[in-house]
Amino acid sequence: MKQLREAIAAQGYGIGSDVVKVDMLLNHRIDTKLLFLMGEAWAEEFRADRPDLVLTVEASGIAMAVAAAHALGDIPAVFAKKSATVVQTGDAVQAKVYSFTHKTENVIRIEKRYLPRGSRVLIIDDFLANGEAVRGLMSLCEQQEAEVIGIGIAVEKGFQEGGRRLREAGLHLKSLAIIDAIEDGKLILREED
Ligand code: 5GP
Repeated sequence: MKQLREAIAAQGYGIGSDVVKVDMLLNHRIDTKLLFLMGEAWAEEFRADRPDLVLTVEASGIAMAVAAAHALGDIPAVFAKKSATVVQTGDAVQAKVYSFTHKTENVIRIEKRYLPRGSRVLIIDDFLANGEAVRGLMSLCEQQEAEVIGIGIAVEKGFQEGGRRLREAGLHLKSLAIIDAIEDGKLILREED
């Protein structure tokens, strides 16, 4: 997606060989015009697959899931939580996720009533690195016999394994921008197909 690629090129940067910072537009400060254009881009890609809901994991995925869900005709945006709190009382499914950014294992959980059995699910997330977060979300869907109709990602790091694995598994994956490398802090963006 041209607008996202341009914003990343102008405002994003790399740390070391594998961490991408786009806090100016997606992860700390949100460029809302860009956000809703991203929602439309995902909606265009996945509308024909008739998702019933959009699923993400807190926190950074939430705004993007909302934008996609709105563009898909105001379907619900549902987010998995990273820790159990006293206000979560319902019956839940859970999955373990190794966090690339925090280097720790989290449990993500969702109350079953928000992910109804048999629903058609579009997964949305901000980054795709090794695919752990998406794998965890897919596990929640599997436990609820919900069908993952597609996966929409804002920024795929093409030098990590997640994207290749999901495509090889035959999943419909749409990454709006792909970063092929980080060279001296500069992000090398893949040309659009
Ligand atoms: P994965 O689970 O695919 O290994 O990593 C994706 C998750 O880790 C995303 O939910 C995202 O929050 C975080 N993440 C992975 N790589 C990066 C990165 O380079 N920058 C940022 N800001 N988050 C990342």
